[in-house]
Amino acid sequence: MGTDIQLSVIIPVYNEEKNIFLLFERLTSVMESLGITKEFIFINDGSSDNSIVLIKSLAEKHGFVKYINFSRNFGHQIAVSAGLDYCSGDRVVIIDADLQDPPELIAEMYLKMSEGYDVVYAKRKVREGETIFKRTSAKLFYRILKKITTIDIPLDTGDFRIIDRKVVNVLKKMPEQEKYLRGQIAWAGFKQSFVQYNREERKEGISGYTISKMLRLALNGITSFSDFPLKFATISGFVMALISFFLILYALYSRFIIKQYIAGWTSLMLCVLFIGSIQLIAIGIIGEYIGRMASNLRNRPLYIVDETNLSEEKLQ
Ligand code: UDP
Ligand code: MG
Repeated sequence: MGTDIQLSVIIPVYNEEKNIFLLFERLTSVMESLGITKEFIFINDGSSDNSIVLIKSLAEKHGFVKYINFSRNFGHQIAVSAGLDYCSGDRVVIIDADLQDPPELIAEMYLKMSEGYDVVYAKRKVREGETIFKRTSAKLFYRILKKITTIDIPLDTGDFRIIDRKVVNVLKKMPEQEKYLRGQIAWAGFKQSFVQYNREERKEGISGYTISKMLRLALNGITSFSDFPLKFATISGFVMALISFFLILYALYSRFIIKQYIAGWTSLMLCVLFIGSIQLIAIGIIGEYIGRMASNLRNRPLYIVDETNLSEEKLQ
């Protein structure tokens, strides 16, 4: 790229006013210990608190602090994508603002990269301070996704990772609207490795990932990287057809051979309801895909930047 920035740090921010200064301090001391040139890109994803004011105050004092202020909340994955579009470092770190991803781990990840890797992700050993629901649903989701996709998406890994410029360039070429970055990075390939860490509790504030945002991310992960749900509809269709065939034989048999054709109303109702529900499920799954195709066809910009202190030409 011909820039002299060795590491860009991408930080999506949604109502993190209590974490920003501490995060900034911990990040800067890690960068100083590594002795590398850096830029911090804060993406303010429509926070309703004071986050942007704090970020701007940091940007005034430090030339390496950049910010992108979204016009509203577009979601975590899109905030990270904006950071990827604008960053200019040779390597790029994606880190949460709530200090659940310890900044100190970046040093270890950065050194690991120098062993010849293009992606080093952080794998969670334990997750602290998260509800049982969040932990079990996440664990289950990653395992199901692994079963039904052909690409190797690492288990128990979020977006906390360091990636080479090569990978950033690939990601920038992937135009899909429904982002599942960790899947896209796995799909991109290259030499990948990981370091392990204990995921800590969020320092301050509350999680911005509501159940509906989590569900959306999970559905994006599945529909972007697996056709299994579509195949599932077809398979259950065939199974139902087979069962129906025998039921029809039975119905004919009782009508014409044993002539007990008044009975059977209950089973008839059960069949109708069952087939009806299978059809609904199948239509629902197809709808999920069509909805996503539609959003890609619309070809809207992924996000709208209200203001930034980065040069606009980076957008291309
Ligand atoms: N975040 C964001 N937009 C959102 C929700 C979250 O930019 O709509 C940011 C948030 O500020 C944090 C990161 O994404 O830096 C992870 O979010 P959070 O900690 O709320 O998720 P959790 O750790 O609970 O899964
Ligand atoms: Mg968090």
